Amino acid sequence: MTVSEASCMICDQITLWKNGQNPYFIHEFDHSIFVVGFHQFHPGYSLLLLKDHVRELHELDAKVQQGLFAELMVATQAIVDTFHPWKMNHSCYGNLDPHVHWHIFPRYESDPERHKHPWIHSPEFKRHAIDLPTTKELRQRIKTSLDKLL
Ligand SMILES: [Zn+2]
Repeated sequence: MTVSEASCMICDQITLWKNGQNPYFIHEFDHSIFVVGFHQFHPGYSLLLLKDHVRELHELDAKVQQGLFAELMVATQAIVDTFHPWKMNHSCYGNLDPHVHWHIFPRYESDPERHKHPWIHSPEFKRHAIDLPTTKELRQRIKTSLDKLL
């Protein structure tokens, strides 16, 4: 483990999953794991975490890039089937946590800011953090949709 991996919050999530202790875990794909977001400001917010500690999408092998994108699309379809959003948004930065991870944001017609990027609401995310029973319920609902796609 490198120094950067030791302090990486995404690696921490992967380690928790490997130990069977990640309450947000929905599904394991070949290259990634699919998890419920810690907040639900946007109902259905979830993430796809690359299993390996890699900082940049372009540093991945071409086959991994393609595989990860296919996994992202399946995860996205599961969110669409579960929550029936108006629009889907995806973002992948890694400026704070330098480990490839995709944010999957469903957007809703009821959101007056829906034509803007989802991070405009980030100051409110923590106030929409979810408890364990809610996490388990969401995980199960998403998994039910996902299982129909696999
Ligand atoms: Zn990492």
